[in-house]
Amino acid sequence: MFQKNMELELLIEDLGVDGEGIGKAEGVAFFVKDAVVGDRALVKIMKMKKRYGYARLLKVLSPSPYRTKPLCDYYRQCGGCQLQVLEYTQQLQYKERKVRNNLERIGGFRIAETEYDKQGILFHPMIGMEEPFFYRNKAQFPVGTDKEGNIVTGFYAARSHNIIPNRRCCLGADLNEKILDIVISFMERYHISAYDETSGAGLVRHVLIRYGFVTGEIMVCLVINGRSLPMAEKLTSQLQKIPGMTSILLNVNEKQTNVILGSHVINLWGQDYITDYIGSVKYQISPLSFYQVNPVQTKKLYETVLAYAGLTGRETVWDLYCGIGTISLFLAQQSNCVYGVEIVAPAIEDARNNARINGIENVEFFVGKAEEVLPQWYERERIPADVIVVDPPRKGCDIKCLETIVNMQPERVVYVSCDSATLARDLKYLCERGYELKEVQPVDMFPQTTHVETVVMLSHKKPDSVINIKVEFGEGEGKVPLDNIVKRAAAYKPKERVTYKMIKEYIEAKYGFKVHTAYIAEVKRELGLPMYDAPNAVEELKQPRKHPTAEKVEAIKDALKYFEKI
Ligand code: SAH
Repeated sequence: MFQKNMELELLIEDLGVDGEGIGKAEGVAFFVKDAVVGDRALVKIMKMKKRYGYARLLKVLSPSPYRTKPLCDYYRQCGGCQLQVLEYTQQLQYKERKVRNNLERIGGFRIAETEYDKQGILFHPMIGMEEPFFYRNKAQFPVGTDKEGNIVTGFYAARSHNIIPNRRCCLGADLNEKILDIVISFMERYHISAYDETSGAGLVRHVLIRYGFVTGEIMVCLVINGRSLPMAEKLTSQLQKIPGMTSILLNVNEKQTNVILGSHVINLWGQDYITDYIGSVKYQISPLSFYQVNPVQTKKLYETVLAYAGLTGRETVWDLYCGIGTISLFLAQQSNCVYGVEIVAPAIEDARNNARINGIENVEFFVGKAEEVLPQWYERERIPADVIVVDPPRKGCDIKCLETIVNMQPERVVYVSCDSATLARDLKYLCERGYELKEVQPVDMFPQTTHVETVVMLSHKKPDSVINIKVEFGEGEGKVPLDNIVKRAAAYKPKERVTYKMIKEYIEAKYGFKVHTAYIAEVKRELGLPMYDAPNAVEELKQPRKHPTAEKVEAIKDALKYFEKI
């Protein structure tokens, strides 16, 4: 009964995963881009499927109370900000719902209804921004030519490569506009051509701009389809006048591809990188490095990761999918040692360099796939981990990676995710294998868009609670005769091999604290007991270890006595 081009009136009752409004007519759901929950709207059907359809917003008949005026004139054309007409508090609620739904539907988790509901999972309200605009520290503007042959720059229209000539994106820095004006007038004045995607001709492809949020340093990098930029000194002399300008670069990309950056960088003026801080850790960021784009929220995100890691200074920590080691260096300050793994080799170079400039020595970085590096390392070294942090791309963790985490049994797993659907899937896997989801904290890293970042904490389930039984020895009713115990003790033969895990569990149950494998190894060594493979691996650890306290030494000796090792 519904057909293409038909017009109809809808009440928008919900928002879909991509921020589109959802309204129903005669039981059929319609997805309407740019419509907001609470709108009564006139729409036109664009496409019909069996049970649902896609429609275009023609007119808002009565606006939703949550509708706001967009800050950007190009809001509907651009498609970069799917939620800009929705009040910010509603944006936050929408994203919270999205994470919650995925955890419940895909993961099968039960979220606590109130803070007193101790069985459910603690789901914290989203950490939003006070000023949810102009937050990005990085922008990449495509450069092209319009129909009249004028050089244009701005953003690609949604699902296309047509450039919308908007130099004033309200997610980016104010200064972008001034920098773009300088670049475009330079190109016009000296007849520098813009790249044409279809023919592959022309020189300037993109302008990449980066800012150091804390330091105020600025990088401008022109991506070019060639090896040099004519009259470059005219451009650099203009750009240098901007306060904070630190680095003016060229990036060579001669391939006919959608990928923005090539691998070769040419320095025109200043440094090859800019510097920035997250908390007290300093980072050098090159044009090719991945670096979180919202510095205000990144700090909050990393603080949550740190809090969830629950570090005391003694832990062995892994940071999988570590990028340029931002989280690793944050964690290294409060743990014994951190191992970072990342697939992109130049990112690891940055990570090592960042460790060096901060004087952080208790980190080690590996290039490779998390799902390969971690299992191989564990197979070889057998060193347990106390905390594993993962921050994978949208597709989530590889099964081999999750499997190894389960084998390594870290006390805690902290999962940072930019896709709550794959997050829910991976959490389900971990929670079916000995882990318990404890807390969930969504963080709004990308206001005005539908993207949401989530940090969760899982802890390893303890063995079932300890039962205390009062026993009286001796003769008489209700008492246990000592003879029996002696007989049973004589019959009891301790197992050949007492594992570190058994010792740890014994100590935790009896003394209420944990001891590191390395400490057990140290005590065993001092006592001259036979050593197996694990302690040798521990000995090879490159980071200097602290020694166990007297209390721990006593507890370990007690455990060794209990297991009849001494
Ligand atoms: N934790 C970092 C980066 C997170 S982005 C930060 O906060 O800045 C995810 C990272 O995972 C990217 O740097 C990407 O290159 C890397 N990556 C993607 N697949 C990977 C894999 N299989 N193994 C290891 N790293 C991977």
